[in-house]
Amino acid sequence: MMRRSLELTGLVAAGGGLGALWSTGPGWCVLGALGGAIAWLALDNSRARRVLAWLREPSAARLPNVGSVWGEVVDRTRRVLKVYNRKARKSQARLQELLAAIQASPNGVVLLGEQGTIDWCNLMAGEHLGFDAKRDLGQRIRNLVRDPAFIAYLNQRDFSQPVEIDGRDARPGHPQRISIQIFPYAKGRRLLLTRDVTTIELAEAMRRDFVANVSHEIRSPLTVIAGSIETLQTLPLQDAERAHFLELMRQQAQRMLALVDDLLTLSRLEGSPNPDDSQWVAAADLLAEAGSQAQALADVLHAGQQTVILCEGPAVEVAGARGELLSAVGNLLTNAVRYTPAHGRVEAGWRLLPDDALEFYVADTGPGIAPEHLPRLTERFYRVDRSRSRGSGGTGLGLAIVKHVIQRHGGQLLIDSTPGVGSTFRLRLPPARVLVRERT
Ligand code: ADP
Repeated sequence: MMRRSLELTGLVAAGGGLGALWSTGPGWCVLGALGGAIAWLALDNSRARRVLAWLREPSAARLPNVGSVWGEVVDRTRRVLKVYNRKARKSQARLQELLAAIQASPNGVVLLGEQGTIDWCNLMAGEHLGFDAKRDLGQRIRNLVRDPAFIAYLNQRDFSQPVEIDGRDARPGHPQRISIQIFPYAKGRRLLLTRDVTTIELAEAMRRDFVANVSHEIRSPLTVIAGSIETLQTLPLQDAERAHFLELMRQQAQRMLALVDDLLTLSRLEGSPNPDDSQWVAAADLLAEAGSQAQALADVLHAGQQTVILCEGPAVEVAGARGELLSAVGNLLTNAVRYTPAHGRVEAGWRLLPDDALEFYVADTGPGIAPEHLPRLTERFYRVDRSRSRGSGGTGLGLAIVKHVIQRHGGQLLIDSTPGVGSTFRLRLPPARVLVRERT
């Protein structure tokens, strides 16, 4: 507004000057008008150049002070620039957020250019594939990831399936498997995704082992049963022989039943939430019930020559699932009875620790277990001595169940053993699951 009024004042002054010159004669008047026009053009040109100079690097802090219509041009450009800058800042912030999200991803992301060059990648991709996510930008990926399976994948150009290679941290006894898949997304450009599949692979290997183990465990008794049936059908047997084969079949059927029971117990444990503290069980009851079964087993297996001692402990209650706790205590007791020979001794009971944690212990004078076996004892189907385990009705799942149960109750299974001397198995429950009725 101010500038426009200045313009008007200039025009009025020029008009006034022209009027004054006209009165002195028309020749002077034309000359004066020409001079005025030239001066005005020069001024306008200088303003235009200042505006052009500013437009080369427009900045709101250095606005050229030009009047006339050029001032208006500068002002409007400045406003358009302001809006544009705000939008650019917003887009930049969004882009940064997106890149930060991709950086935070547990998967690797690489953008490949036409020649297979790394145009951009996140840190995880570098970790998975063994290159430096910053330094190696612009490098061709085939020069950095030399795994033959990956090179073959790149060459075949069929990216419908992922390819798996060893990760850079893979070494003997410490597998690391990385799955890689490429997705073409624009002319010559490809998105490469990487994923650490080590745990999935391990779980899959465990599942395969488990199925193989279960099949084997079921196959052995079934073979005996099938063989016995065939013998009974084809051979003319004496009564005593028939009774022998029937007894064999009964034992093997029993073995399969025990196996199926243990498998069902494990799957129930895996598929249910951890027991809470809404149920309280008297520790002495668990010992009495499991103890009497162990004593009965000792009588059968060792003709009453094994000593089984159950020690009366403090009057305590335990928070948890009765059936699960009974199976854990019972498994440890029957193991001790089964593996300790006749004339040996098994002692079990509950004891309170100084911090009011509660421990169930079973100590035996059995064969003991060599230290190298101890870390693997709770693996499914792991046995130190296969024939001894099977011979006494073992499924190879007992300690796996015990460990699962105690962990679901927030506790631990502890094993101490000396070969030739004996073993002590302990179940330790945290104070939060223990209610002391009376200390002894
Ligand atoms: P199993 O049904 O074979 O007894 P477990 O899981 O209960 O399976 O035990 C795993 C292995 O640990 C057994 O095969 C046995 O070799 C060993 N073991 C368990 N308890 C004892 C023990 N009290 N004394 C010696 N060895 C034991």
